[in-house]
Amino acid sequence: IRMNALIERAAVARTKAVSTPDRRPKAPLAHYDVLIVGAGFAGSVLAERLASESGQRVLIVDRRPHVGGNAFDRLDHTGVMIHQYGPHIFHTNSAEVFAYLSRFTRWRPYEHRVLAQVGETLVPMPINRTTLNILFGLDLQNDEQAAGFLASRAEPVSVVRTSEDVVVSAIGRELYETFFRGYTRKQWGLDPSQLDKSVTSRVPTRTNTDDRYFTDTFQAMPLDGYTAMFERMLDHENIEVRTGVEYRDVARMVAHDRLVFTGPIDEFFDYRYGRLPYRSLKFRHETHPQETFQPVANVNFPDEATPFTRITEYKHLTGQMHPSTSITYEYPTAEGDPYYPIPRPENHALFKRYEALAAERPEVSFVGRLATYRYYNMDQVVGQALATYRKLAPSLKVSVSD
Ligand code: FAD
Ligand code: UDP
Repeated sequence: IRMNALIERAAVARTKAVSTPDRRPKAPLAHYDVLIVGAGFAGSVLAERLASESGQRVLIVDRRPHVGGNAFDRLDHTGVMIHQYGPHIFHTNSAEVFAYLSRFTRWRPYEHRVLAQVGETLVPMPINRTTLNILFGLDLQNDEQAAGFLASRAEPVSVVRTSEDVVVSAIGRELYETFFRGYTRKQWGLDPSQLDKSVTSRVPTRTNTDDRYFTDTFQAMPLDGYTAMFERMLDHENIEVRTGVEYRDVARMVAHDRLVFTGPIDEFFDYRYGRLPYRSLKFRHETHPQETFQPVANVNFPDEATPFTRITEYKHLTGQMHPSTSITYEYPTAEGDPYYPIPRPENHALFKRYEALAAERPEVSFVGRLATYRYYNMDQVVGQALATYRKLAPSLKVSVSD
């Protein structure tokens, strides 16, 4: 309640400032050791570490009305668990990250499978031997035969630089056009030839019949959902959580020794060098009065004519039993919440200029997908946040409660 009053006063102060500048020095009204902006993975992991390991008094704010960042999940109007910002599937090779998160959740073993719709046919994606046999009416029996088939179609590329090069050089133009070109143009609003190779390199091609999307050692979904896991992570006497709160509204009202910023780095510096490009999505959530909608959690639509990229059916991820089922269509857009940093050399160069500004602010830690402008998965963000904590910890004095 106290914080809400402060925030209202901050908002009023900002409105006033337009007409009658108030230059009286304002006494800080509350003090925290650390102010954290953003309650996604980056912010929540740091809040938990700083509070429980270093005894820091933490205020964590998020402009959204909930914690969890993009991993936020909730029950929809019929009681089916959905992911508000699109499907989040947890997978990692890091035993450390998995063990850390396991303190806050039990898990449901889950291996993700994706089918791509090509014409009227659904085929495994990533492309594997089954995909090739179905599409080309072949009977490739083993890895060698499949590898030979792909090699006969691959087109040599002298320097593999872009997201087009990396696919065409491995599997040839026809498969590239069927599975990657249209999907990528929709997803990014750019041709794969304009995107760093790291983007399509996320999706392998296989010569075996493994039809899992990921091959990581740990693959599982939080048993009660992501939001419940975040709530447990943030449930600590040293952590105060405020949602629906803008950083700017709270910054001047709350004294803090350190700042952890997990929002867009260009926004933090008032877009001084111009805007970093982000790709956004519009989600169309639907509930259907039937038990299942599609055979797997994700069906991808790689053709350019279909305006959405994929449909997700959540019950495959969550294992929930329910007479209805909920699905989400993803429509990529230029405008909207910043979801994806766009990996291109010129964007990286612009980020580097912001990173140089960040280096002049040692009291601020920039962490997460938006603040470090990296196309990171959840486990990578957790790893980055844990590493940031390890760097900070030695310099922190344990706060003594008054
Ligand atoms: P975020 O989750 O974006 O959290 C940042 C928070 O900061 C936001 O909640 C935002 O509201 C808040 N904020 C920003 N600026 C301010 C401000 N000025 N004041 C107050 N609050 C502010 N990863 C996987 O591992 N597996 C997947 O299957 C997967 N699927 C994905 C699907 C989609 C559609 C998207 C977009 C991402 C997916 N990811 C997936 C990536 C995953 O979402 C991210 O790695 C992770 O959520 C990043 O966490 P974060 O804390 O860095 O950022
Ligand atoms: N991609 C594609 N066709 C597909 C799946 C992926 O062309 O059927 C490309 C596309 O450019 C996408 C990238 O590979 O952005 C990475 O795919 P991933 O599934 O990792 O995307 P994310 O889950 O991060 O949106």
